Amino acid sequence: MGRSRATRTVERRPATDGRPELELVRSTRRRRSASAQARDGRLVVQLPAGLPAAEEERLIAGLVTKVTDRLRSKVLDDEGLLVRAAALADRYVDGVRPVSVTWSSRMAKRYGSCSYAAGTIRISNRLAGAPDYVIDSVLVHELAHLVEHDHGPAFKRIVARYPHEERARAFLAGLEFAEQRGVLPDPASD
Ligand SMILES: [Zn+2]
Repeated sequence: MGRSRATRTVERRPATDGRPELELVRSTRRRRSASAQARDGRLVVQLPAGLPAAEEERLIAGLVTKVTDRLRSKVLDDEGLLVRAAALADRYVDGVRPVSVTWSSRMAKRYGSCSYAAGTIRISNRLAGAPDYVIDSVLVHELAHLVEHDHGPAFKRIVARYPHEERARAFLAGLEFAEQRGVLPDPASD
């Protein structure tokens, strides 16, 4: 029963509404500071061990807000996309997990694509900076393809769980129209 000099415990908390899966790492080595970073579709939060529960929850809530706000900023990186996808999957797509979610500059026609054999999803960089509900809708569509490969009734039932599907479709139809008219610069030509 001797006390080791440093102990480290890991707790997992499943994703909830608007919050990704958390991995809480408590370490006696940490004194005060807490930090969080996105990794493999979840937020890893490093905490000092032995904090009062209320103080710990306050720290966690603050870090989650900080990191998710950053992920919602205009330029999401691939890791940010993966975290967003994981949270959406837990809420709407039976918790399915893609291997990777990446931006692609080589998608001139479609806004998203899914290789269900490899478990990978690509999102067109033409959507970079689009409203969150639009990117989320495309992510839900591609995540649903990891479960249902075609656009049949089972697929439609999954994507219909996402509440902003119709609004996102309207946005994408308008975007497509503008692109066809040459109203917008072509971001794929970099
Ligand atoms: Zn599709």
